[in-house]
Amino acid sequence: MRKFKDMTLKHRLSLYTAVLLLFSALTVGVPSYLVAKIALQNKGEIQLKNAAYSALDIISVLNDAVENGDVSLNEAQDRAGKMLIGEKQSDGTRTIDTDMDLGVHGYYSVFSLDGHLLFHPTLEGEDVFSAPDQSGKSMPFYFVQDLIEKAQSGGGYTYYDWLYPYSDAVGEKVVYSVYDPNWKWVISVGSYTSDFDRDAFVIMEIAGVSILVSLLLGLLFSARYMESIVSPLTGLERAMKLIESGDYEQVPEIERKDEIGNLVRGYNNMVHTLKKANEDVAARDRRISYYAYNDMLSGLPNRNFLREYITDRVAQESGVSDYHLVLMDIKDFKSVNALYGNTYGDGIIEQIGEIMRLMKREDKIFARVSGNEFAIWMKSSSQEAVFEEIHNLKVQLNEKLSYHGFSQTVDFFTSCCEFSENSRTFDMLYQKASIALQVAKESHYLHTIAYEDDMYYAIERETRMRGLVETAIRKDEFLLYYQNKVNAHTEEVVGVEALARWFPAEIDAIGPSEFIPLIVRAGLMSRFSSYVIQKALDDYPLIVKKFGPHVTLSINISPSIFNSDNFVEFVTANIAQRGIDPSKIYLEITEDFLVSDFDRIATKIKMLRAEGVRIALDDFGTGYSSLNYLTSVQFDEIKVDKRFIDGILGDFRARALLKSIVDIGRAFDYMIVAEGVETEEQVEVVRRIGCSLIQGYAYSKPEPIESAFQL
Ligand code: C2E
Ligand code: MG
Ligand code: MG
Repeated sequence: MRKFKDMTLKHRLSLYTAVLLLFSALTVGVPSYLVAKIALQNKGEIQLKNAAYSALDIISVLNDAVENGDVSLNEAQDRAGKMLIGEKQSDGTRTIDTDMDLGVHGYYSVFSLDGHLLFHPTLEGEDVFSAPDQSGKSMPFYFVQDLIEKAQSGGGYTYYDWLYPYSDAVGEKVVYSVYDPNWKWVISVGSYTSDFDRDAFVIMEIAGVSILVSLLLGLLFSARYMESIVSPLTGLERAMKLIESGDYEQVPEIERKDEIGNLVRGYNNMVHTLKKANEDVAARDRRISYYAYNDMLSGLPNRNFLREYITDRVAQESGVSDYHLVLMDIKDFKSVNALYGNTYGDGIIEQIGEIMRLMKREDKIFARVSGNEFAIWMKSSSQEAVFEEIHNLKVQLNEKLSYHGFSQTVDFFTSCCEFSENSRTFDMLYQKASIALQVAKESHYLHTIAYEDDMYYAIERETRMRGLVETAIRKDEFLLYYQNKVNAHTEEVVGVEALARWFPAEIDAIGPSEFIPLIVRAGLMSRFSSYVIQKALDDYPLIVKKFGPHVTLSINISPSIFNSDNFVEFVTANIAQRGIDPSKIYLEITEDFLVSDFDRIATKIKMLRAEGVRIALDDFGTGYSSLNYLTSVQFDEIKVDKRFIDGILGDFRARALLKSIVDIGRAFDYMIVAEGVETEEQVEVVRRIGCSLIQGYAYSKPEPIESAFQL
């Protein structure tokens, strides 16, 4: 069964054909042979029967002659023997010579009732009553007795096996026996059945040959037909195997409209579609892998590519010494996009990409690593050489950009980090170069900055501090201390200034000069300022309780919150909510505010003053001091910076300057406050110059309101 299953289609179909042809040939041939054989045998048997009755007729005629006295009985009987069997020879045998058609081996025998052979071709005179047939069966068949019995009972056939004449072969014999009562003769006439059905064998032989011929022809035709089916199928099978190895080969078309033709055409269509789909997928894969490693806009490799490239080079451990990773960040690129549009910005990136692509060398790889940041992996003998090369690159970039119609000079912040034992992976190099880049950005430094370990620690501290500040703001960990502002003549406390304090659990306490810029950089100034303003206003009743209803409260305001849209409303609403007289509240701003956007700030100052809130100009004398501001916008108070006061004891010019500021204040109706007055002598000088308000350690240090209240 298994073997059958493993057979090829061709062999299986050949087998089917052979079986079918054999079956049909046998179903026709064998019955025809059998029918013919039976018919011929019947015919032979009838001939024998007729011959037997003819013998009786002959005997009857001869007996009539005996009864008429024409011949003697002996003579008549002898004549009958001659007629039926033939003339007796000298050796006692008779030649079989009769007019009857008894088949090739047919002859008459005449027996007496006791089995004595009266006439016989060879055994005449013998007693054969108990002769057995020659089939060799264990139970012998006494055919002579059988035929005598059949003859006496009216005639019948006896079948037995007997030797062919003059041969050792045994064949089946059939004899028909009749009885003549006058002469008491048993006459049997018989022959071999093979004499009758010889023609049936011929039919069988013809049938056999035709079976063979039709089988061969059938196999030949079926083989040819099979070939026409199997060969396209074999082609399909081979083509399908090729598909497994990614080879989409079509099979030769065949001009047939049958199922095979359709199958081949269908297969070819399918392969065509598959091939196309496969090509599309391959093209898409190529595109995806291209964009996985390349930047679309600049046409430069991207950060992934650079990472893998550097990682490979480092893994090969050859020639990576003297290599540097340079980062270039386009300065103010956001503003360029905002001012000139994204298309203009994209154009800059495209041009830079094109220029860098042309500059690519074996030892210099350019990449675009983020929006406005490019990286260069370059070989250079020293840091100075890197600086020089980058400087030249920037000049070249700007020349080419201006040549291509970009009017603006493009500035870059640049940094570099050298490949070393401590920076031996792309990520380490990139992190360090990024730190140096951040330093360059924060310090607005336009030359290349090389990474140093200190930068890392500074940034690490900054990051840590930012985290702490964020938590502190979320948890309201900042406290407010208050420092008195005293009338130097009466020594009366006329006001207090709220100063923020922070005592973090994790690190030593740090002052506002350090944590305020941190809060600004963390982008949390707005939230911090709201907290301070509200907390200070909440504390005001306690301050009044301590110093009386006339006392003022000064709050420091940072530029970001002062500039915010609803600042005026926020402050006035908070003051009003608490029922505080706005004229008791001083908002302290610094001069650098005014430089950034004077008109806007001036408007806000006017709005606040119109609401009754007072404005103080803090840290006067530092930064962008300009008397112009004092005449252009109305303030209520000017706080002269401690650095001014520090000099007044020894330096007469400092005293003269303070004097003129006091005079200006009088002229423009400003209160003047001297800040950072630490000693009695300083108090004395300041008072003599005519400055009546003093804030400094000479009178009091900033203190928490609770302890101030307890006093
Ligand atoms: P400022 O507004 O000019 O505050 C005066 C600073 O001088 C305070 O420093 C105060 O403690 C200090 N000071 C006063 N008298 C003396 C003195 O006799 N000798 C010495 N050596 N120092 C004196 P502080 O508290 O460290 O604050 C520094 C700056 O931080 C403030 O300068 C202010 O600009 C800012 N600041 C403080 N708190 C806040 C706040 O809540 N919000 C905002 N936006 N800024 C604040
Ligand atoms: Mg202040
Ligand atoms: Mg100040």
